[in-house]
This record gives sequence, structure tokens and C-alpha cells, in this order.
Amino acid sequence: ALEVHDVHKWYGTHRVLDGIDLTVRPGEVTVVIGPSGSGKSTLLRVINHLEKPDIGQVSVGGELIGVRRVGGRLKELGERAVLAQRGRIGFVFQNFNLFPHLTALDNVAAAPVATGRLGRPEARELARELLTRVGLGDRTGAYPRTLSGGQQQRVAIARALALRPGIILFDEPTSALDPELVGEVLSVIKDLATSGTTLVIVTHEIGFAREIADRIVFIDGGRIVEQGPPAEVLDNPRHERTRDFLARVL
Ligand code: ATP
Ligand code: MG
Repeated sequence: ALEVHDVHKWYGTHRVLDGIDLTVRPGEVTVVIGPSGSGKSTLLRVINHLEKPDIGQVSVGGELIGVRRVGGRLKELGERAVLAQRGRIGFVFQNFNLFPHLTALDNVAAAPVATGRLGRPEARELARELLTRVGLGDRTGAYPRTLSGGQQQRVAIARALALRPGIILFDEPTSALDPELVGEVLSVIKDLATSGTTLVIVTHEIGFAREIADRIVFIDGGRIVEQGPPAEVLDNPRHERTRDFLARVL
């Protein structure tokens, strides 16, 4: 399981995360919703240690992320150890973040080679498989600038899968896409969800959230205001702030 325990984060004097506790069980799909600036991206970045929590910890399968216990204290892990952990937590960004000078195939094959997990031929074979899985088996040689936004995001998803992560984090994976390209990316994410991959997805696509989520987490002001199955949080919210938010986005 992924466990976020009492995480607090400040930027200067601005409190962005204010005591987040969250457990995501293996195979579970958790969708995080909430207003702009509520701390959703920061939470994802803390989970894979792109940001350090000021208080609290994150663990995956019982292993602390970014730190280790020495005596009674927590000590920062070295860069290599953090990178190895990050390989087990995939991250898909809003703006794809592909390498512009590499083909789709090499974008996907790069990480398993760089981390020494696979030799180049095996990594390219895996990349071909993953690109086929996201519907791009015929575009393996294409450079990112020649692909549509939806295709680029599907390459980015294949790239995240290439390290065989136990969990994948998505930060608004469709918000940079033209409306007609949103569906193809959501359908790839839906396939991952039904194949049992553990997912944490930040999205404003409420209809998609309802369809895919085992659990919806509503965040406001750096706190979890409420969480539960879509039928509770979306259709029967208990808190005023959740109702206000849903009224604005639905
Ligand atoms: P959105 O829906 O707009 O993406 P969000 O819920 O993802 O919003 P965050 O990006 O987590 O929100 O930001 C939470 C707050 O932290 C915002 O007020 C933001 O301005 C602030 N913030 C985020 N990153 C930094 C940073 N590196 N330095 C200073 N402030 C930051
Ligand atoms: Mg964000």
C-alpha cells in the first residue's frame, strides 16, 4: 500500500499541505479532486519525493520514501536511492515532458536502459510492446513534435510503464489536450485501472472520475475534506465545501 502519514508542507510561510493522511491499497484507483491551489500537485510531488514534506512521511509497501530511519531520526536518502524509489512510482505530467530529440520508442526505452534494468535491445522490445498497448504500435519512430497531444501523452504513459512501477501518479493528464483528444488518453488510463495497476489521478474530469475511481478524495486548503466512493463524495457530499466545488465544476 501507499501510505501518506500526517504530511505538512510549507512554501515560506504559506501552508500548502496541512496534515494529509491517505492510504491507497494495491490495485486501488484513487482520484484526487479540489480547487486550484488546494495542494493536489504538491501532494503528488511529495509522494515521489520531488518535494520533501516538512512534517510527516510517505511509504510504499512499508518502505519510507526519500528518507530512512537512523536510530530515532529520519535521514535523507542519497540521490541514487531516491531515483531508484522513483522508478517504482511512475509519474505522468500535464505537459507530457517527453524528450524532444528522441523518437517515441527511445523515449520509452530510455529509463530502463539508464537505470541499468535492461539492455538496449530488451528495452526497445519492451518499448514496442508498451507503445502497442497504448495504441501507438505504428508510430514508434515518430518524434514528439510530429505527434498530437493525445499521442504524446500516450507515449508518456508508456514511458511511465517502462519501469514497471507498482503505482502510477497522474497530474491532470488531459488538461493540456484539445477536447477531441481527451477520450483516447482517458481510455488508456481506464485500461490500466481495469488491469489492476495502482493509480492516483488528479483530474477535473468528474465524469471520468465517477467511472474509474474506487475512491474520490476531495482536497481543499491542503486538507482532505472528505473521501469515499464516487457515489458518496460526488452524489451525496457531506460537506458544504465539497458541494460548492462540485456545483462549480459539474
Ligand atoms: P491546480 O489545480 O491549479 O493545479 P493544485 O491543487 O495542484 O492547483 P499546487 O500546485 O499543489 O495546487 O499548489 C498549492 C499552492 O502552493 C498554491 O498556492 C501554489 O501557488 C503554491 N506553490 C506550489 N508550488 C510552489 C513553489 N514551488 N513555490 C512556492 N509556492 C508554490
Ligand atoms: Mg496542480
